Amino acid sequence: MDLNLLPEEEQYRQQVRSWLAANLPKVMAERRAGRISGIEWSKKWQRMLYEAGYVALSWPKQYGGQELDPMRQFIVNDELARARAPGVIGAQAINLLGPTLITFGTEEQKRRYLPKMLRAEEIWCQGYSEPGAGSDLASLRTRAEIDGDHFVVNGQKVWTSRSRYADRMFALVRTDPSAPKHRGISYLLIDMKSPGLTVRPLVQMTGDRGFSEVFFDNVRVPRENLVGQLNDGWRVANDTLYNERNLGGAVEGNKQVFNRLLDLARNTKRAGQPLIKNSIYRQRLADFQITVEAMRLHGLRQLTDQIHKRPRGVESLVNKLVGSELTYEMTRTALELEANFAPLLKGDERAPDRGYWPMNLMVAMGLMIGGGTSQIQKNIIAQRGLKMPKGPD
Ligand SMILES: Cc1cc2nc3c(=O)[nH]c(=O)nc-3n(C[C@H](O)[C@H](O)[C@H](O)COP(=O)(O)OP(=O)(O)OC[C@H]3O[C@@H](n4cnc5c(N)ncnc54)[C@H](O)[C@@H]3O)c2cc1C
Repeated sequence: MDLNLLPEEEQYRQQVRSWLAANLPKVMAERRAGRISGIEWSKKWQRMLYEAGYVALSWPKQYGGQELDPMRQFIVNDELARARAPGVIGAQAINLLGPTLITFGTEEQKRRYLPKMLRAEEIWCQGYSEPGAGSDLASLRTRAEIDGDHFVVNGQKVWTSRSRYADRMFALVRTDPSAPKHRGISYLLIDMKSPGLTVRPLVQMTGDRGFSEVFFDNVRVPRENLVGQLNDGWRVANDTLYNERNLGGAVEGNKQVFNRLLDLARNTKRAGQPLIKNSIYRQRLADFQITVEAMRLHGLRQLTDQIHKRPRGVESLVNKLVGSELTYEMTRTALELEANFAPLLKGDERAPDRGYWPMNLMVAMGLMIGGGTSQIQKNIIAQRGLKMPKGPD
């Protein structure tokens, strides 16, 4: 396998790099100035990236993409990480729901939802988890009954990220309670402004209200908002989950965290010496760098499979498992480097690196749970990837 870029790909990389150099400092200054809300700023940043041609490059043209080969998106993501650019607010929709709609959606659904998703005109949230249905997602109980040309939805979702400001939700609902639990589930697109839908924010240990409980009381959803076939939602849901696990272990995110950790090791001194010269930390940093590089190569292997349209295996679960645990371990090391200053949070002028690391520790713990816990990834990798027998229940 040749890991070098073709000359035209190298030229494209330079083009992305120049665009970021010209635009990123300006938008970051705007964010720091705080003249617009964080959400409005994030929408604007996504629109800028999209208009520059750097979002969803491989999507079909009629839905807002450019039909470029996936290598171009890989290059863009790599450059975004290198420039330490912030993520886009619609990442979940673009990376999770978008590809699922392209595969399973009706022509009308694709035309209606995909372009607005790309321009951050509609923000989406994911309504999968429920009280009692997290790892065992197929136990979900939110019901949807057919009434004429509508579904009537009753029940509750929980841990729904972004639901506080989302315009729409892609949700799993039970449409046939008499069927075995993996059947009888359907995949619906729900307007968050629907009468009967209530969002109750939950406060996380970071202090953010990043996710909420969502209650459905006779919420009417048009039948044309069904994705895939009635009672075949489990298959559709798993396509979205596969995409989510890629996102959860995104190599670009890990590279950004690693680069930041390197800076911290360079700038933190103990006994007059920067910690990057300490042999124990050097070894640890080398181990992290090797894993980051292994993840990058794993990403390239996935890219090759995608280009050759090979069937998908458990690769995205490996991304999720290794990527989320790596973020957590790198963050713990950063806190060790900060020593007594580690508990100081953002806003405290003595906090090293503006209090990024203690906050990131709390975020990193969530990453090992959201999109499926590490234990669940290990179970699936063992059974489906390594063909190991299922353990006793
Ligand atoms: C930051 C964050 C954001 C999230 N965002 C969303 C969202 O937007 N939409 C959404 O639908 N959900 C979201 N979730 C929910 C997430 O998908 C669930 O928390 C996750 O699937 C685990 O489910 P649970 O919390 O019910 O834990 P449980 O399933 O109750 O698990 C509890 C513990 O038991 C372990 N366990 C369970 N079953 C097994 C088993 N068979 N073998 C071994 N160990 C097992 C788990 O690994 C875990 O450690 C989010 C979660 C977090 C933390």
